[in-house]
Amino acid sequence: MRNFGYKSLRWFSPVLNILFKNRLRVLAYHDIIDSANFEAQIIWLKSKYNIIDISTLQSHLFHNQPLPKNSLLITLDDGDKTVYTKGLHIFKKHQVPSCLFIITDLINSRKDFWWNTIIKNEEKNGLSKEKIMEVINICKALPNDQRLNYLQKYKATFRDQLTLEEVQELKENSVFIANHSHTHPMFDKVNEAELKDELMQVKTFFEEKGIGDFTVFAYPNGNSNERSEQLLIENRIRMAFLFDHKLNEKHINPLRISRIAVDSDNPLSEFKTKVSGLHPMIFKVKKKLQQ
Ligand SMILES: [Zn+2]
Repeated sequence: MRNFGYKSLRWFSPVLNILFKNRLRVLAYHDIIDSANFEAQIIWLKSKYNIIDISTLQSHLFHNQPLPKNSLLITLDDGDKTVYTKGLHIFKKHQVPSCLFIITDLINSRKDFWWNTIIKNEEKNGLSKEKIMEVINICKALPNDQRLNYLQKYKATFRDQLTLEEVQELKENSVFIANHSHTHPMFDKVNEAELKDELMQVKTFFEEKGIGDFTVFAYPNGNSNERSEQLLIENRIRMAFLFDHKLNEKHINPLRISRIAVDSDNPLSEFKTKVSGLHPMIFKVKKKLQQ
């Protein structure tokens, strides 16, 4: 999509901002690669949108409070260490709230993200980036036990993860700590026992450590189905976030909150187009054409 011509498309963005001023935008970041670029994005977001926190969204969803015009929520998935090392000072400086979805099994550990283990091993094997992505996508499509079996063939890799103290400091600085599962399996590929165990482990972790809101959840990789949604309901999860590259409709289903994927190193022209809702529209049309 990068060759689509973001620079020319950005002229549509102000029009879409007016058309969609009552639609909630939720951004989904992962790591923060480029601090300076990320800060420029935050400054621009602050100038164009009302950056809200989770409790403002909860008041809207559960107590009928209106959202401010041009509301935007910043979320970050996986709890990458760079959110602390490169993002926290920017959030503090610009007094911007956000929501961080953590993988509880990784906190206070040196365990790598499972997809990184694939990347690092296959890079050593000389596989191209495209081929490595194919392997990861195949893994994501496997039943969970088969995915775990497949991963056994790789040498363990390591990575510094957030410590409990760092999570606490993030929390004290308007970063809402929320549930992104215990080990990041695909929720549409796990069996019922695995799914229950994932949720139970997060609940125990949050209760024992006294941090994090179990009831605010983001589907790992955005994968969901009716069964997993039902289990979320049974476990009293009240909000669930998708990864579907869409703006939200006027009436939001709290268990199907749409998010737009962005990266901290997206150049501003590309970033503005993505946030406006134009990029998600193109994404949708492109997908339709491919079907
Ligand atoms: Zn994730």
